[in-house]
Amino acid sequence: MIPAEFAYHRAESLDDAIEALGRDPDAKLLAGGHSLIPALRLRIARPSVLVDVGRLEDLRYVRDDGDRIAIGALTRHAQLAADPVLGHGCAVVARAAALVGDPQVRHRGTIGGSVAHADPASDLPTVLLALDASLVARGPNGERTIPVSSFFIGPFTTALAAREVLTEIRIPKVDRGVYLKHTRRAQDWATVGVAAVVADGTTHVALASMGPTPVRARAVEDALANGAGAAEAAARAGEGTEPPSDVSGSGEYRAHLAQVYVRRALEQL
Ligand code: FAD
Repeated sequence: MIPAEFAYHRAESLDDAIEALGRDPDAKLLAGGHSLIPALRLRIARPSVLVDVGRLEDLRYVRDDGDRIAIGALTRHAQLAADPVLGHGCAVVARAAALVGDPQVRHRGTIGGSVAHADPASDLPTVLLALDASLVARGPNGERTIPVSSFFIGPFTTALAAREVLTEIRIPKVDRGVYLKHTRRAQDWATVGVAAVVADGTTHVALASMGPTPVRARAVEDALANGAGAAEAAARAGEGTEPPSDVSGSGEYRAHLAQVYVRRALEQL
């Protein structure tokens, strides 16, 4: 379908983007366009203005910040997959980025776009939830840092205000992390995705496509903390989740997949 009519503004700087968002309540940021443009074409999204931040190169980086890694929001999936700082400090993010869609998607789509779009089936948001990442947003009133645990509010809904731009994602360095996803077709979204990391000696597990947002598998984490093995802990993967039923599988099937994939992830950790 052809998108509804919209105006276009190419942002020259972050401040210019924030100002442009402030001029029109129906303005929307455009990053890699790989979620927004399909939504425009389906007329699910009908912004009056697209504020294109895609050429703000200063928001495209991966930086070693001592005990953590800072990722610019406009860093593309392909760049994450090949980045040496991530490869050494938090390889699970690089590996998950390599599983996003196909090469075209990975060369246009950005981590900031993926996080702000908040599709509960997305890969990187699930990994960031397991890592207890922090998300930095800039708006007209300055900068704030949002813990990932309070960022995802519902399907395609986040804690970002309309005039805020997500600028940076901060993650801890971890040397043990696994991301696995089950897909119906090659290069597809996750029917179920599982991120498992060991941070500060504790195992964190997060799930994609098991509820309206990415969710932490708290029952699995508690079982592991109390000494359970991988199989025993994984049996609790569905607890506290709300797996949807759709064309990729029923909620019951997803609950089963979550147990299988959590066990595999824990065994590989
Ligand atoms: P855009 O489409 O430009 O924007 C998406 C939304 O985020 C918009 O609402 C926009 O306003 C907002 N936004 C963008 N950047 C910012 C920012 N910095 N601050 C605030 N708001 C912002 N994803 C997966 O996880 N796994 C997959 O397997 C997968 N497969 C895909 C297959 C196909 C064929 C396609 C088209 C997409 C797929 N995706 C998948 C989604 C892909 O990862 C998208 O690129 C990503 O979700 C959105 O990033 P983007 O930069 O393209 O954002």
